[in-house]
Amino acid sequence: MSYVDEVLEKVKKQNANEPEFIQAVDEVLNSLRPVIDANEELYRREAVLERIVEPERIIMFRVPWVDDKGQVQVNRGYRVQFNSAIGPYKGGIRFDSSVYLGIIKFLGFEQIFKNSLTGLPIGGGKGGSDFSPKGKSDREVMAFCQSFMTELYRHIGADTDVPAGDMGTGAREIGFMFGQYKRIKDVYEGVLTGKGLTYGGSLARTEATGYGLCYFTDEMLKCNGKSFEGKTVAVSGSGNVAIYAIQKAQQLGAKVVTCSDRNGWIHDPEGIDVDLLKQIKEVERGSLEDYAKRRSSAKFSAEKAAESANGVWSVKVDIALPCARQNELNLYDAKQLVANGVFCVAEGANMPTTEDATKYLQDNGVLFAPGKASNAGGVATSALEMSQNSERLSWTFEEVDEKLKNIMINIFHKADDAAKKYGMEGNYVAGANIAGFEKVVNAMLAQGIV
Ligand code: NDP
Repeated sequence: MSYVDEVLEKVKKQNANEPEFIQAVDEVLNSLRPVIDANEELYRREAVLERIVEPERIIMFRVPWVDDKGQVQVNRGYRVQFNSAIGPYKGGIRFDSSVYLGIIKFLGFEQIFKNSLTGLPIGGGKGGSDFSPKGKSDREVMAFCQSFMTELYRHIGADTDVPAGDMGTGAREIGFMFGQYKRIKDVYEGVLTGKGLTYGGSLARTEATGYGLCYFTDEMLKCNGKSFEGKTVAVSGSGNVAIYAIQKAQQLGAKVVTCSDRNGWIHDPEGIDVDLLKQIKEVERGSLEDYAKRRSSAKFSAEKAAESANGVWSVKVDIALPCARQNELNLYDAKQLVANGVFCVAEGANMPTTEDATKYLQDNGVLFAPGKASNAGGVATSALEMSQNSERLSWTFEEVDEKLKNIMINIFHKADDAAKKYGMEGNYVAGANIAGFEKVVNAMLAQGIV
């Protein structure tokens, strides 16, 4: 049995209750086969794969807090410190009722390669809780965040582990956690990124993941003789990543006609009104149903085909940008997109496309950008926030945006070059995994058995 198959079998057995983690490892290791086969003896002796699939540390803890009725609530908190070979652990904190250890491990594992691809000195980590801020008052969110940080603070630090936001964790939650960290530790350090602009945050961090996704996609399109100009785009989600992906795609000359949330999705053939979307989602924290009520060209729908993971993929478009959640674009959706003539799918979310859907898209000649490369703009700008905090300086929006753009263009070319080097031209999934993996493994080998 090959080394990859041996390790995959072990991972499946040891983590049987964590399907998302198994999916992520399966996808990465399978695409790394050419590299691993070429170095099998060394990697096997050094147990490189066994080490890379095992987090350096997993922290799980109780998070008690009091709700507005005076009732004590208990949630579970997580921080998975996956790999620190190339820098301090770095990765977001997800607050969503669906969070359990398998989700955090899948995200942390992906983060190792993503962070490596950025070219910046950051290791891979991820955290979160099964707490959902949805429907909670500001006071309840603060009580939860303070309790979460009261345990987490002892495991993180500006040179150890620097968490950021993720699904359900925006500027409000980061602010509450930063305040509590500072209060307990009595140090003012860049221990979290995604901070507000008045206390160490970076300009363009809010926009970074969505903008970065479009910069990456733009470069991929250009290198394949195409562009955003005049194209129709479907976006899923209407959170941080989706909003700024819609904005940048429209700035680059495309028309974005869909977005979605937990309640349903909208089709707006006139093009999404980003200001209205921001008002509803960022200010009012409302539902997309409100968007359709206020804009006559838009239609809200709670319906989708039973086999579909997200109704937005039924609309005829040229480019699709999944920006909501894992496994939200399945084989049925991929077939619909291809039948409707889509020529590019670029992932804004983490692992939004199922493995069989990815394969179907690639087999049908669709340009496919994997999230660990195309959504790396968020973490890259987080690392730029860390640099500004260490220097005690703030760069302008234009400076950060320019650096972000260059990083995304470089990431595309790293993935493109690695794919070409191993005879898989145009397979950016394999290229991204290989480029991210090689740097981390070389650092691990240099640092001995740790
Ligand atoms: P947000 O919480 O801001 O937005 C998430 C969006 O997805 C919301 O519109 C939400 O709907 C929707 N959504 C969540 N769960 C479901 C569900 N079960 N069914 C349908 N829709 C759902 O998160 P982000 O935009 O920050 O993150 C989106 C994705 O991008 C995640 O995979 C995240 O890991 C990834 N990512 C984020 C980065 C960042 O910088 N923020 C960086 C890199 C990756 P609703 O509005 O109803 O809540």
